Amino acid sequence: MTNAGSNSGKCFCGAVQFTVSGEPAGMGYCHCSSCRLWSASPVNGFTLWKSDAVKVTQGAEHIGTYNKTPRSLRKWCKTCGGHIFTEHPDWGLIDVFAGVLPDFPFKPGVHVHYQETVLRMKDGLPKMKDLPKEMGGSGDTLPE
Ligand SMILES: [Zn+2]
Ligand SMILES: [Zn+2]
Repeated sequence: MTNAGSNSGKCFCGAVQFTVSGEPAGMGYCHCSSCRLWSASPVNGFTLWKSDAVKVTQGAEHIGTYNKTPRSLRKWCKTCGGHIFTEHPDWGLIDVFAGVLPDFPFKPGVHVHYQETVLRMKDGLPKMKDLPKEMGGSGDTLPE
């Protein structure tokens, strides 16, 4: 991986712009029902970054927040409704949705919460039943 610079992202309308810098802590797909309901899609592509690697460069006043649980602060653009990222304060990480980083090379390495899947993806990547042990999960994997 040689992507040490910064990449820019934006919401659907462009009112909110931000950058991510350095390397993500992880990339993959989440199959949990929360991601599904919030993103209105069968699976959610994530890129996880240390909180200080994500900087909002424009339109911070347009960002809305919804937290169903204190573990996930979900952010979207109040102008266009486009989703931007989710802060995970317990982990010190921000999940920037892969789709809002158009120029960043998305290289998924894992599937998480696969026990909840509604869309099986036979791509040969590991399928975590819930989460890796270091993130508070069982660390168990499931067949594709
Ligand atoms: Zn917007
Ligand atoms: Zn999820």
